[in-house]
Amino acid sequence: MAVAVEADLVQIGGLRGYGGDDQPDPDLLRACVHCGMCLPSCPTYRLTGQEMSSPRGRLWMMKAVGDGRLDLLDPAFDEQMYQCLNCRACEAVCPSGVHYGPLVEAARQQLETHRPRPLPQRVARRVGIAWLFRDARRMRAAVAALRFYQRSGLAAVVRRAGIPRRLGLADLEAMMPPVSRRALVPGEERWVPAHPERSVALFNTCMMGTVFADTNRAAARVLAHNGSAVDVPVGQQCCGALAVHAGMMDEARDLARTNIDAFEASGDDHVVVTAAGCGAALKEYGHLLKDDPAYAGRAERFSARVRDVSEELGAVGGGLVPPTRPVRRRVTYQEPCHLAHAQRITIQPRMLLAAIPGLELVEMRESSLCCGSAGIYNLIRRAMADELGDRKAGNALATGAETVVTANPGCAMQLRTSIRRAGGGADVRHVVDLLDEAYGGEAAGRAGSWACDRARTKSDAVPAAAD
Ligand code: SF4
Ligand code: SF4
Repeated sequence: MAVAVEADLVQIGGLRGYGGDDQPDPDLLRACVHCGMCLPSCPTYRLTGQEMSSPRGRLWMMKAVGDGRLDLLDPAFDEQMYQCLNCRACEAVCPSGVHYGPLVEAARQQLETHRPRPLPQRVARRVGIAWLFRDARRMRAAVAALRFYQRSGLAAVVRRAGIPRRLGLADLEAMMPPVSRRALVPGEERWVPAHPERSVALFNTCMMGTVFADTNRAAARVLAHNGSAVDVPVGQQCCGALAVHAGMMDEARDLARTNIDAFEASGDDHVVVTAAGCGAALKEYGHLLKDDPAYAGRAERFSARVRDVSEELGAVGGGLVPPTRPVRRRVTYQEPCHLAHAQRITIQPRMLLAAIPGLELVEMRESSLCCGSAGIYNLIRRAMADELGDRKAGNALATGAETVVTANPGCAMQLRTSIRRAGGGADVRHVVDLLDEAYGGEAAGRAGSWACDRARTKSDAVPAAAD
Protein backbone atom coordinates (compact mmCIF):
# COMPACT_ATOMS: atom_id res chain seq x y z
CA MET A 1 0.00 0.00 0.00
CA ALA A 2 1.14 3.50 -0.77
CA VAL A 3 2.68 5.50 2.03
CA ALA A 4 3.89 9.09 2.14
CA VAL A 5 6.75 9.65 -0.27
CA GLU A 6 7.41 13.36 -0.53
CA ALA A 7 10.95 13.10 -1.94
CA ASP A 8 9.75 12.50 -5.52
CA LEU A 9 7.21 15.32 -5.51
CA VAL A 10 7.79 18.24 -7.82
CA GLN A 11 8.05 21.42 -5.69
CA ILE A 12 7.09 24.77 -7.21
CA GLY A 13 7.44 27.87 -5.03
CA GLY A 14 7.22 25.78 -1.88
CA LEU A 15 4.04 24.00 -3.02
CA ARG A 16 4.07 20.26 -3.61
CA GLY A 17 2.97 19.19 -7.10
CA TYR A 18 2.45 15.80 -8.74
CA GLY A 19 5.26 13.26 -8.81
CA GLY A 20 5.94 9.78 -10.17
CA ASP A 21 3.49 7.76 -12.30
CA ASP A 22 -0.23 8.29 -12.90
CA GLN A 23 -0.35 12.08 -12.94
CA PRO A 24 -3.52 13.79 -14.24
CA ASP A 25 -2.91 14.29 -17.98
CA PRO A 26 -2.25 18.03 -18.58
CA ASP A 27 -3.67 17.80 -22.15
CA LEU A 28 -6.95 16.41 -20.81
CA LEU A 29 -7.04 19.14 -18.18
CA ARG A 30 -6.47 21.81 -20.82
CA ALA A 31 -9.44 20.48 -22.81
CA CYS A 32 -11.83 22.03 -20.26
CA VAL A 33 -13.06 25.38 -21.62
CA HIS A 34 -14.88 26.26 -18.36
CA CYS A 35 -18.27 26.47 -20.09
CA GLY A 36 -20.10 25.09 -17.05
CA MET A 37 -22.42 22.83 -19.05
CA CYS A 38 -21.53 19.93 -16.76
CA LEU A 39 -22.60 21.68 -13.55
CA PRO A 40 -26.33 20.80 -13.59
CA SER A 41 -25.46 17.11 -14.14
CA CYS A 42 -23.12 16.89 -11.18
CA PRO A 43 -24.76 15.40 -8.07
CA THR A 44 -22.36 17.02 -5.61
CA TYR A 45 -22.87 20.44 -7.21
CA ARG A 46 -26.63 19.89 -7.15
CA LEU A 47 -26.47 19.20 -3.41
CA THR A 48 -23.98 21.89 -2.37
CA GLY A 49 -24.33 24.60 -5.01
CA GLN A 50 -20.59 25.24 -4.62
CA GLU A 51 -18.26 25.75 -7.55
CA MET A 52 -15.48 23.74 -5.87
CA SER A 53 -17.85 20.76 -5.64
CA SER A 54 -18.47 20.85 -9.39
CA PRO A 55 -16.52 19.14 -12.19
CA ARG A 56 -15.23 22.52 -13.37
CA GLY A 57 -14.06 23.39 -9.86
CA ARG A 58 -12.32 20.04 -9.43
CA LEU A 59 -10.63 20.29 -12.82
CA TRP A 60 -9.41 23.77 -11.86
CA MET A 61 -7.91 22.35 -8.68
CA MET A 62 -6.20 19.46 -10.52
CA LYS A 63 -4.67 21.92 -12.96
CA ALA A 64 -3.67 24.29 -10.14
CA VAL A 65 -1.70 21.51 -8.43
CA GLY A 66 0.09 20.74 -11.72
CA ASP A 67 0.85 24.44 -12.31
CA GLY A 68 2.20 25.01 -8.77
CA ARG A 69 -0.70 27.19 -7.58
CA LEU A 70 -2.13 24.72 -5.07
CA ASP A 71 -0.43 22.25 -2.77
CA LEU A 72 -1.13 18.58 -3.54
CA LEU A 73 -1.64 17.94 0.15
CA ASP A 74 -3.99 20.89 0.68
CA PRO A 75 -6.98 19.47 2.62
CA ALA A 76 -9.43 21.17 0.23
CA PHE A 77 -7.92 19.27 -2.71
CA ASP A 78 -8.15 15.99 -0.81
CA GLU A 79 -11.75 16.72 0.17
CA GLN A 80 -12.86 17.47 -3.38
CA MET A 81 -11.10 14.51 -4.99
CA TYR A 82 -12.95 12.20 -2.59
CA GLN A 83 -16.24 14.09 -2.40
CA CYS A 84 -16.56 13.38 -6.14
CA LEU A 85 -18.57 10.21 -6.75
CA ASN A 86 -16.68 9.45 -9.99
CA CYS A 87 -20.13 9.00 -11.50
CA ARG A 88 -18.95 10.42 -14.85
CA ALA A 89 -22.18 12.38 -15.42
CA CYS A 90 -20.01 15.39 -16.27
CA GLU A 91 -18.20 13.42 -18.97
CA ALA A 92 -21.40 12.46 -20.73
CA VAL A 93 -22.50 16.08 -21.27
CA CYS A 94 -19.13 17.81 -21.83
CA PRO A 95 -18.95 19.41 -25.30
CA SER A 96 -15.13 19.43 -25.13
CA GLY A 97 -14.92 15.70 -24.51
CA VAL A 98 -13.12 16.04 -21.17
CA HIS A 99 -12.42 12.48 -20.07
CA TYR A 100 -12.97 13.16 -16.38
CA GLY A 101 -12.80 9.63 -14.91
CA PRO A 102 -9.08 8.96 -15.52
CA LEU A 103 -8.27 12.47 -14.26
CA VAL A 104 -9.87 12.08 -10.85
CA GLU A 105 -8.51 8.52 -10.58
CA ALA A 106 -4.97 9.79 -11.26
CA ALA A 107 -5.44 12.60 -8.72
CA ARG A 108 -6.50 10.05 -6.12
CA GLN A 109 -3.52 7.87 -6.97
CA GLN A 110 -1.27 10.88 -6.32
CA LEU A 111 -2.91 11.41 -2.93
CA GLU A 112 -2.65 7.72 -2.04
CA THR A 113 1.03 7.69 -2.94
CA HIS A 114 2.10 10.92 -1.30
CA ARG A 115 -0.24 11.52 1.60
CA PRO A 116 0.02 9.43 4.78
CA ARG A 117 -3.18 7.77 5.94
CA PRO A 118 -3.79 6.83 9.57
CA LEU A 119 -2.85 3.21 10.33
CA PRO A 120 -6.46 1.94 10.78
CA GLN A 121 -7.37 3.29 7.33
CA ARG A 122 -4.28 1.72 5.78
CA VAL A 123 -5.13 -1.64 7.33
CA ALA A 124 -8.81 -1.37 6.29
CA ARG A 125 -7.86 -0.61 2.69
CA ARG A 126 -5.26 -3.38 2.57
CA VAL A 127 -7.66 -5.97 3.95
CA GLY A 128 -10.89 -4.66 2.41
CA ILE A 129 -9.70 -3.79 -1.09
CA ALA A 130 -6.27 -5.29 -1.75
CA TRP A 131 -6.56 -8.66 0.03
CA LEU A 132 -10.26 -9.57 -0.08
CA PHE A 133 -10.80 -8.64 -3.71
CA ARG A 134 -7.51 -10.14 -4.93
CA ASP A 135 -8.80 -13.70 -4.86
CA ALA A 136 -12.40 -14.62 -5.73
CA ARG A 137 -12.18 -17.60 -3.38
CA ARG A 138 -11.77 -15.24 -0.43
CA MET A 139 -14.86 -13.31 -1.49
CA ARG A 140 -16.81 -16.55 -1.85
CA ALA A 141 -15.73 -17.62 1.64
CA ALA A 142 -16.76 -14.24 3.09
CA VAL A 143 -20.14 -14.38 1.36
CA ALA A 144 -20.64 -17.99 2.52
CA ALA A 145 -20.29 -16.73 6.10
CA LEU A 146 -22.81 -13.98 5.34
CA ARG A 147 -25.19 -16.56 3.83
CA PHE A 148 -24.94 -18.65 7.01
CA TYR A 149 -25.55 -15.52 9.11
CA GLN A 150 -28.69 -14.68 7.11
CA ARG A 151 -30.16 -18.17 6.80
CA SER A 152 -29.33 -19.72 10.17
CA GLY A 153 -31.46 -17.30 12.18
CA LEU A 154 -28.34 -15.72 13.66
CA ALA A 155 -29.13 -12.42 11.90
CA ALA A 156 -32.47 -12.09 13.70
CA VAL A 157 -30.91 -12.83 17.10
CA VAL A 158 -28.04 -10.38 16.53
CA ARG A 159 -30.44 -7.70 15.30
CA ARG A 160 -32.75 -8.14 18.29
CA ALA A 161 -29.76 -7.63 20.57
CA GLY A 162 -29.00 -4.36 18.75
CA ILE A 163 -25.45 -5.48 17.96
CA PRO A 164 -25.21 -4.10 14.38
CA ARG A 165 -26.37 -0.69 15.62
CA ARG A 166 -23.90 -0.66 18.49
CA LEU A 167 -21.05 -1.61 16.13
CA GLY A 168 -22.12 1.04 13.61
CA LEU A 169 -22.89 -1.70 11.06
CA ALA A 170 -26.69 -1.37 10.95
CA ASP A 171 -26.74 0.33 7.52
CA LEU A 172 -24.25 -2.11 6.03
CA GLU A 173 -26.37 -4.99 7.29
CA ALA A 174 -29.59 -3.43 5.98
CA MET A 175 -27.96 -2.93 2.58
CA MET A 176 -27.33 -6.63 2.07
CA PRO A 177 -30.01 -8.41 0.04
CA PRO A 178 -30.72 -12.08 0.73
CA VAL A 179 -27.59 -13.82 -0.53
CA SER A 180 -28.03 -16.30 -3.40
CA ARG A 181 -28.19 -19.89 -2.20
CA ARG A 182 -25.05 -20.96 -4.11
CA ALA A 183 -22.13 -18.96 -5.50
CA LEU A 184 -21.43 -19.24 -9.22
CA VAL A 185 -17.96 -20.75 -9.44
CA PRO A 186 -16.06 -20.27 -12.73
CA GLY A 187 -15.77 -23.49 -14.67
CA GLU A 188 -18.54 -25.30 -12.78
CA GLU A 189 -21.59 -24.34 -14.82
CA ARG A 190 -22.09 -23.85 -18.54
CA TRP A 191 -25.22 -23.08 -20.52
CA VAL A 192 -25.72 -24.59 -23.97
CA PRO A 193 -28.64 -23.55 -26.21
CA ALA A 194 -30.59 -26.09 -28.21
CA HIS A 195 -29.34 -24.35 -31.35
CA PRO A 196 -26.07 -22.52 -30.56
CA GLU A 197 -25.31 -19.55 -32.80
CA ARG A 198 -22.35 -18.07 -30.91
CA SER A 199 -20.48 -18.39 -27.63
CA VAL A 200 -19.81 -15.78 -24.96
CA ALA A 201 -17.65 -15.65 -21.83
CA LEU A 202 -19.40 -14.43 -18.68
CA PHE A 203 -17.45 -12.11 -16.41
CA ASN A 204 -18.58 -13.35 -13.01
CA THR A 205 -17.62 -10.31 -10.84
CA CYS A 206 -17.14 -10.38 -7.05
CA MET A 207 -20.67 -9.41 -6.05
CA MET A 208 -22.61 -10.83 -8.99
CA GLY A 209 -20.90 -14.21 -8.69
CA THR A 210 -21.67 -14.47 -4.97
CA VAL A 211 -24.37 -12.26 -3.40
CA PHE A 212 -26.23 -11.99 -6.72
CA ALA A 213 -25.18 -15.33 -8.25
CA ASP A 214 -28.79 -16.14 -9.15
CA THR A 215 -28.90 -13.00 -11.30
CA ASN A 216 -25.78 -14.15 -13.14
CA ARG A 217 -27.50 -17.49 -13.72
CA ALA A 218 -30.58 -15.64 -14.97
CA ALA A 219 -28.35 -13.70 -17.39
CA ALA A 220 -26.81 -16.94 -18.63
CA ARG A 221 -30.24 -18.50 -19.18
CA VAL A 222 -31.45 -15.43 -21.08
CA LEU A 223 -28.32 -15.44 -23.26
CA ALA A 224 -28.72 -19.17 -23.93
CA HIS A 225 -32.38 -18.65 -24.78
CA ASN A 226 -31.12 -16.23 -27.44
CA GLY A 227 -28.62 -18.64 -28.96
CA SER A 228 -25.41 -18.01 -26.98
CA ALA A 229 -23.42 -20.78 -25.31
CA VAL A 230 -22.24 -19.31 -22.01
CA ASP A 231 -18.97 -20.21 -20.30
CA VAL A 232 -17.63 -18.74 -17.04
CA PRO A 233 -13.85 -18.86 -17.59
CA VAL A 234 -11.65 -20.18 -14.79
CA GLY A 235 -8.97 -17.90 -13.30
CA GLN A 236 -10.92 -14.63 -13.52
CA GLN A 237 -10.79 -12.23 -10.59
CA CYS A 238 -12.30 -8.92 -9.47
CA CYS A 239 -12.30 -6.35 -12.29
CA GLY A 240 -10.28 -3.87 -10.18
CA ALA A 241 -12.87 -1.07 -10.27
CA LEU A 242 -12.80 -0.55 -6.51
CA ALA A 243 -9.00 -0.31 -6.56
CA VAL A 244 -9.09 2.20 -9.45
CA HIS A 245 -11.67 4.33 -7.65
CA ALA A 246 -9.53 4.27 -4.51
CA GLY A 247 -6.41 5.33 -6.44
CA MET A 248 -4.74 1.93 -5.88
CA MET A 249 -3.47 1.56 -9.43
CA ASP A 250 -0.86 -1.16 -8.82
CA GLU A 251 -3.51 -3.44 -7.35
CA ALA A 252 -5.90 -2.63 -10.22
CA ARG A 253 -3.26 -3.38 -12.87
CA ASP A 254 -2.41 -6.67 -11.22
CA LEU A 255 -6.08 -7.75 -11.40
CA ALA A 256 -6.41 -6.54 -15.00
CA ARG A 257 -3.44 -8.66 -16.14
CA THR A 258 -4.92 -11.72 -14.39
CA ASN A 259 -8.27 -11.23 -16.14
CA ILE A 260 -6.71 -10.69 -19.55
CA ASP A 261 -4.81 -13.97 -19.14
CA ALA A 262 -7.98 -15.78 -17.97
CA PHE A 263 -10.10 -14.70 -20.94
CA GLU A 264 -7.57 -15.18 -23.73
CA ALA A 265 -8.49 -18.83 -24.20
CA SER A 266 -12.02 -17.76 -25.21
CA GLY A 267 -10.63 -16.06 -28.33
CA ASP A 268 -12.77 -13.25 -29.70
CA ASP A 269 -15.95 -14.23 -27.82
CA HIS A 270 -17.66 -11.28 -26.23
CA VAL A 271 -17.00 -10.88 -22.52
CA VAL A 272 -20.47 -10.29 -21.07
CA VAL A 273 -20.93 -8.42 -17.78
CA THR A 274 -23.98 -7.96 -15.56
CA ALA A 275 -22.49 -5.23 -13.34
CA ALA A 276 -22.28 -1.76 -14.89
CA GLY A 277 -19.35 -0.66 -12.75
CA CYS A 278 -17.31 -3.72 -13.64
CA GLY A 279 -18.16 -3.39 -17.34
CA ALA A 280 -16.93 0.21 -17.36
CA ALA A 281 -13.68 -0.82 -15.65
CA LEU A 282 -13.10 -3.71 -18.06
CA LYS A 283 -13.67 -1.44 -21.05
CA GLU A 284 -10.87 0.80 -19.73
CA TYR A 285 -8.17 -1.86 -19.35
CA GLY A 286 -6.59 -0.48 -22.52
CA HIS A 287 -6.07 2.84 -20.75
CA LEU A 288 -5.07 1.26 -17.44
CA LEU A 289 -2.29 -0.81 -19.05
CA LYS A 290 -1.27 1.58 -21.81
CA ASP A 291 2.30 1.87 -20.44
CA ASP A 292 2.81 -1.87 -19.99
CA PRO A 293 4.59 -3.13 -23.12
CA ALA A 294 3.65 -6.77 -22.44
CA TYR A 295 -0.08 -6.07 -21.94
CA ALA A 296 -0.99 -2.80 -23.70
CA GLY A 297 -2.12 -4.44 -26.97
CA ARG A 298 -3.73 -7.41 -25.22
CA ALA A 299 -5.60 -5.02 -22.90
CA GLU A 300 -6.97 -3.06 -25.89
CA ARG A 301 -8.15 -6.28 -27.52
CA PHE A 302 -9.73 -7.50 -24.29
CA SER A 303 -11.58 -4.22 -23.71
CA ALA A 304 -12.96 -4.31 -27.27
CA ARG A 305 -14.62 -7.65 -26.46
CA VAL A 306 -16.50 -6.41 -23.35
CA ARG A 307 -20.28 -5.98 -23.53
CA ASP A 308 -22.83 -5.17 -20.87
CA VAL A 309 -25.47 -7.92 -20.90
CA SER A 310 -28.15 -5.48 -22.15
CA GLU A 311 -25.79 -4.34 -24.92
CA GLU A 312 -25.14 -7.96 -25.92
CA LEU A 313 -28.83 -8.86 -25.95
CA GLY A 314 -29.77 -5.64 -27.73
CA ALA A 315 -27.41 -6.56 -30.56
CA VAL A 316 -28.53 -10.17 -31.01
CA GLY A 317 -28.76 -10.85 -34.73
CA GLY A 318 -32.36 -11.33 -35.87
CA GLY A 319 -33.64 -9.60 -32.73
CA LEU A 320 -34.42 -10.80 -29.26
CA VAL A 321 -36.45 -14.01 -28.99
CA PRO A 322 -39.84 -12.62 -27.85
CA PRO A 323 -40.57 -13.46 -24.20
CA THR A 324 -44.01 -15.02 -23.86
CA ARG A 325 -44.80 -15.24 -20.12
CA PRO A 326 -46.45 -12.05 -18.86
CA VAL A 327 -44.79 -10.29 -15.91
CA ARG A 328 -47.66 -8.15 -14.64
CA ARG A 329 -45.87 -5.46 -12.71
CA ARG A 330 -45.36 -1.71 -12.70
CA VAL A 331 -41.64 -1.00 -12.74
CA THR A 332 -39.31 1.98 -12.99
CA TYR A 333 -35.73 1.96 -14.22
CA GLN A 334 -32.84 3.57 -12.35
CA GLU A 335 -29.79 4.07 -14.56
CA PRO A 336 -26.45 3.03 -13.08
CA CYS A 337 -23.96 5.87 -13.68
CA HIS A 338 -21.38 3.51 -15.09
CA LEU A 339 -23.87 2.21 -17.62
CA ALA A 340 -25.49 5.51 -18.65
CA HIS A 341 -22.49 7.87 -18.40
CA ALA A 342 -19.33 5.77 -18.60
CA GLN A 343 -20.65 3.29 -21.20
CA ARG A 344 -23.43 5.47 -22.70
CA ILE A 345 -25.91 2.59 -22.60
CA THR A 346 -29.38 3.94 -21.95
CA ILE A 347 -31.71 2.53 -24.61
CA GLN A 348 -30.97 -1.20 -24.46
CA PRO A 349 -32.14 -1.90 -20.87
CA ARG A 350 -35.41 -0.06 -21.56
CA MET A 351 -35.77 -1.95 -24.85
CA LEU A 352 -35.43 -5.26 -23.02
CA LEU A 353 -38.00 -4.24 -20.40
CA ALA A 354 -40.38 -3.06 -23.13
CA ALA A 355 -40.19 -6.52 -24.71
CA ILE A 356 -41.66 -8.17 -21.61
CA PRO A 357 -45.41 -8.77 -21.94
CA GLY A 358 -47.55 -7.35 -19.13
CA LEU A 359 -44.76 -5.14 -17.78
CA GLU A 360 -45.51 -1.44 -17.35
CA LEU A 361 -42.41 0.76 -17.40
CA VAL A 362 -42.90 4.17 -15.77
CA GLU A 363 -39.99 6.60 -16.02
CA MET A 364 -38.84 8.25 -12.79
CA ARG A 365 -37.41 11.76 -12.47
CA GLU A 366 -33.61 12.01 -12.46
CA SER A 367 -33.15 8.35 -13.37
CA SER A 368 -29.49 8.93 -14.25
CA LEU A 369 -28.58 11.09 -11.23
CA CYS A 370 -26.22 9.06 -9.02
CA CYS A 371 -27.99 7.11 -6.25
CA GLY A 372 -25.00 7.65 -3.94
CA SER A 373 -23.62 4.12 -4.09
CA ALA A 374 -20.42 4.85 -6.09
CA GLY A 375 -18.26 1.90 -5.07
CA ILE A 376 -17.67 2.28 -1.32
CA TYR A 377 -18.76 5.94 -1.26
CA ASN A 378 -21.95 5.02 0.65
CA LEU A 379 -19.83 3.43 3.35
CA ILE A 380 -17.22 6.15 3.75
CA ARG A 381 -19.19 9.35 2.97
CA ARG A 382 -22.52 8.55 4.46
CA ALA A 383 -24.15 11.98 4.67
CA MET A 384 -23.99 12.81 0.98
CA ALA A 385 -24.66 9.22 -0.08
CA ASP A 386 -27.78 9.12 2.12
CA GLU A 387 -29.01 12.43 0.71
CA LEU A 388 -28.65 11.12 -2.84
CA GLY A 389 -30.19 7.79 -1.88
CA ASP A 390 -33.21 9.49 -0.29
CA ARG A 391 -33.69 11.63 -3.38
CA LYS A 392 -33.53 8.56 -5.62
CA ALA A 393 -35.93 6.58 -3.43
CA GLY A 394 -38.38 9.48 -3.45
CA ASN A 395 -38.29 9.68 -7.24
CA ALA A 396 -38.65 5.92 -7.63
CA LEU A 397 -41.54 5.59 -5.18
CA ALA A 398 -43.35 8.56 -6.73
CA THR A 399 -43.90 6.44 -9.86
CA GLY A 400 -45.93 3.92 -7.89
CA ALA A 401 -43.61 1.16 -9.10
CA GLU A 402 -43.69 -2.19 -7.34
CA THR A 403 -40.20 -2.95 -8.61
CA VAL A 404 -37.19 -0.72 -9.20
CA VAL A 405 -35.02 -2.14 -11.96
CA THR A 406 -31.31 -1.48 -12.23
CA ALA A 407 -28.17 -3.11 -13.62
CA ASN A 408 -25.45 -2.81 -11.01
CA PRO A 409 -25.05 -4.52 -7.61
CA GLY A 410 -23.91 -1.36 -5.81
CA CYS A 411 -26.99 0.55 -7.01
CA ALA A 412 -29.23 -2.38 -6.08
CA MET A 413 -27.96 -2.39 -2.49
CA GLN A 414 -28.11 1.39 -2.13
CA LEU A 415 -31.66 1.49 -3.54
CA ARG A 416 -32.78 -1.28 -1.23
CA THR A 417 -31.56 0.63 1.83
CA SER A 418 -32.91 3.99 0.65
CA ILE A 419 -36.33 2.62 -0.25
CA ARG A 420 -36.64 0.96 3.16
CA ARG A 421 -35.55 4.16 4.90
CA ALA A 422 -38.28 5.99 2.98
CA GLY A 423 -40.83 3.42 4.17
CA GLY A 424 -41.38 2.01 0.66
CA GLY A 425 -42.03 -1.64 -0.12
CA ALA A 426 -40.74 -1.80 -3.71
CA ASP A 427 -38.27 -4.56 -4.44
CA VAL A 428 -35.11 -4.09 -6.52
CA ARG A 429 -34.26 -6.35 -9.44
CA HIS A 430 -31.80 -6.56 -12.31
CA VAL A 431 -33.08 -6.20 -15.90
CA VAL A 432 -32.16 -9.82 -16.65
CA ASP A 433 -34.06 -11.11 -13.60
CA LEU A 434 -37.30 -9.87 -15.15
CA LEU A 435 -36.40 -11.00 -18.65
CA ASP A 436 -35.56 -14.46 -17.32
CA GLU A 437 -38.93 -14.58 -15.56
CA ALA A 438 -40.60 -13.71 -18.86
CA TYR A 439 -38.76 -16.60 -20.56
CA GLY A 440 -39.86 -19.03 -17.85
CA GLY A 441 -36.64 -19.16 -15.79
CA GLU A 442 -35.31 -22.67 -15.20
CA ALA A 443 -38.49 -24.15 -16.69
CA ALA A 444 -37.30 -22.97 -20.13
CA GLY A 445 -34.33 -25.32 -19.73
CA ARG A 446 -36.60 -28.21 -18.85
CA ALA A 447 -38.64 -27.37 -21.96
CA GLY A 448 -35.51 -27.85 -24.08
CA SER A 449 -34.56 -24.24 -24.89
CA TRP A 450 -31.10 -24.77 -23.42
CA ALA A 451 -29.23 -27.11 -21.09
CA CYS A 452 -27.12 -26.27 -18.07
CA ASP A 453 -24.06 -28.48 -17.76
CA ARG A 454 -23.05 -28.69 -14.09
CA ALA A 455 -20.68 -31.62 -14.56
CA ARG A 456 -17.63 -29.53 -15.34
CA THR A 457 -14.56 -30.75 -13.54
CA LYS A 458 -12.12 -27.93 -14.15
CA SER A 459 -12.92 -25.11 -11.77
CA ASP A 460 -11.18 -22.69 -9.45
CA ALA A 461 -13.16 -23.79 -6.40
CA VAL A 462 -10.11 -25.20 -4.61
CA PRO A 463 -9.20 -23.58 -1.29
CA ALA A 464 -7.52 -20.20 -1.51
CA ALA A 465 -3.76 -20.34 -1.66
CA ALA A 466 -1.57 -17.70 -0.16
CA ASP A 467 -0.39 -15.03 -2.56
S1 SF4 B 1 -18.66 20.82 -19.63
FE1 SF4 B 1 -16.57 20.16 -20.06
S2 SF4 B 1 -15.54 21.98 -20.84
FE2 SF4 B 1 -17.42 22.70 -19.85
S3 SF4 B 1 -16.78 23.14 -17.71
FE3 SF4 B 1 -17.51 21.03 -17.72
S4 SF4 B 1 -15.65 19.80 -18.04
FE4 SF4 B 1 -15.15 21.92 -18.64
S1 SF4 C 1 -17.80 12.46 -11.66
FE1 SF4 C 1 -19.89 12.95 -10.92
S2 SF4 C 1 -19.60 13.83 -8.86
FE2 SF4 C 1 -17.59 13.85 -9.89
S3 SF4 C 1 -17.44 15.86 -10.82
FE3 SF4 C 1 -18.28 14.51 -12.41
S4 SF4 C 1 -20.50 14.70 -12.22
FE4 SF4 C 1 -19.61 15.54 -10.33
